[in-house]
Amino acid sequence: MHFVLAIFFFLSTFATQADANGNQNDQNNQQRIDQLFDIFNEGEEGDLKKLAAYLIELETLIPPEDIKQQEKLIPLQCWYHPSETSEEFKQAIKHAEDLMQLHQKSSPSALHADLLLCRASHYQFSGNPQQARLDYDVAIQEAYQIENLRLIADGRSMRGAMLSYEGDYTGALEDLIPAQSIYEQLNLDYWARVNLSEIANSYRRFGDPLMALNYQQKLEQAYLENNQDMDAIYVNTQIGYSYEELGKNELALERFKKSYDYWLEKDKSIQTAGAAVDIAGIQLKLGQIDEAIEILDNAEKTITIELDGLFSFMKLFRAQAALLKQQPEEALDYATEAEMGFDVSNNERGLSQVYTLRNKTYVFLEDYQSAHSALTDYLALHHKLDQKSLSSRNSEMRARFNTDKIESENQTLQALQRIKEQELKTLEKNKELQQVIIVLVAIILIIMTLYAAKQVKRKQLFKNLALTDELTQLANRRHTYNLAKSYIEQARKDNTSFSLISFDADHFKKVNDTLGHDIGDKVLVQLAEVSRNLMRSSDTVGRVGGEEFLVLLPGANKQQAQEIAERLVSKIANANWQEIAPELKQTISAGVSQFANDSHLEALLLRVDNALYQAKSAGRNCVKAV
Ligand code: GH3
Ligand code: MG
Ligand code: MG
Repeated sequence: MHFVLAIFFFLSTFATQADANGNQNDQNNQQRIDQLFDIFNEGEEGDLKKLAAYLIELETLIPPEDIKQQEKLIPLQCWYHPSETSEEFKQAIKHAEDLMQLHQKSSPSALHADLLLCRASHYQFSGNPQQARLDYDVAIQEAYQIENLRLIADGRSMRGAMLSYEGDYTGALEDLIPAQSIYEQLNLDYWARVNLSEIANSYRRFGDPLMALNYQQKLEQAYLENNQDMDAIYVNTQIGYSYEELGKNELALERFKKSYDYWLEKDKSIQTAGAAVDIAGIQLKLGQIDEAIEILDNAEKTITIELDGLFSFMKLFRAQAALLKQQPEEALDYATEAEMGFDVSNNERGLSQVYTLRNKTYVFLEDYQSAHSALTDYLALHHKLDQKSLSSRNSEMRARFNTDKIESENQTLQALQRIKEQELKTLEKNKELQQVIIVLVAIILIIMTLYAAKQVKRKQLFKNLALTDELTQLANRRHTYNLAKSYIEQARKDNTSFSLISFDADHFKKVNDTLGHDIGDKVLVQLAEVSRNLMRSSDTVGRVGGEEFLVLLPGANKQQAQEIAERLVSKIANANWQEIAPELKQTISAGVSQFANDSHLEALLLRVDNALYQAKSAGRNCVKAV
């Protein structure tokens, strides 16, 4: 028992030991692979050269037969394909298609959806938004089918950003808001910030400064917490614009000054000039005309006509300042310059400010016809802007409604995901438990097998005890008679011979009386031994009484049985009895009879006993057959 268990444990520890060395290397490799995948996953690393090197490292580290990790690698090969020139974009799209063809496994799958997203992105940035839109739609649908939260968020964030850029703000928000909640849920902080900035931008472009401000403040907080101070300053400027639109000029001024100081310290002249223009715009509103002019004078040195948006606002503010200084001619000149820039960039809000200013200037000049014409321009533009904002707001209602619905769908999905994660954890735990159970069951089985073997042996022992005579180890009376009955049956069935020898120790009482019971027992044991040695293995010698024996001889006829009996009698007479006691001599008398269609064993026994009686009567130490 202990031996078997020892072998069992030896084998299991040996197997673990043998794996240990190989495992160490594998473990180091796997750690590095996980680390690299995490870098790509989290998105914080912005250095494309480093990322390209990491990708090559992954390609060398992951063994080709490791299908699961190879599949994680494939989308990265698509995403980090060089894509700056139009030729590179073409190649990137082609590469995405090749990968999709090559790994055309059952769609929907995470791999397929990811590759679709990648191709969509390449389409989008190569200037093919229609094709991009088709890919985004299918990829998002697949991501929902396989309940892959990460891909749902990626797909909707990217599609939302594209829609926002195209001016469909409501469509954009419909995608960006649910993407935000998923990123936050999955703790993908970097991507959550990227997505949040898209949301804030969409509200700003949409013309909802209060909502934009809300998201901008959240985003600024996130950037500051992550020490992205430059990103935080860009948002700071955006926050300034939102305050300005909300009429909170003092707050806006504070923000613009903060940006100005930052850029000045970083020695970024264009950004510094941009912040200066923003400050000037607010100062004019606050009536700080001279300060504004001074700042604009400085900025003008840096701002060239190529910076069209910035250039136009600078000119617009100069025009406003000139009018406030009662210099209408200069104001009109600046307005014309501003208008040119705004026209180029199709900045309708800028243009509307130019028309207003022009109207005020002509009124100041009492040129009412020109003032009227400027007002007409303004009204036409305003009507256009209103129309736009009206239709946007209608669709915004729709978007908000849908957003709620989608958000509740997402919550359901996330709940499902959590349950799945829980199940996975439980499965892992169960695995350990299973191993323990397997070992325990193995031990129990071994114990049971050993116990069962012992039981079989015991049963055998009991069976033997029930069938044999304890002193001589011969078949006992009951067993001998049962065997005899079965031989009779067989002889009757097969029509074969069956004979019996009955023998009895002569004057045995005297042995007991003179030499003692112990010697008597020894004599019985020797009688048994001699007779058993003489018989064939198919014959049976049984002890049927104190010193009476019966020999069963299946297949033997009376004559053969008689010969055997005579041999037995003489063998016993010549046995080495002196070994037991110096004066001892022992003989037997035997009777022989043959089965002759007797209906019962008793008839045969009667005949053989009769034969034995005749042998005794004939003077013993002899054989008689009946
Ligand atoms: P016969 O030649 O006529 O058979 O004479 P016998 O003395 O053998 O006569 P009988 O058959 O009457 O006596 C049998 C004796 O065998 C009686 C008993 O004391 C003895 N005996 C029976 N069983 C055992 C035994 O197990 N051990 C010993 N030592 N003696 C036994
Ligand atoms: Mg006797
Ligand atoms: Mg007797």
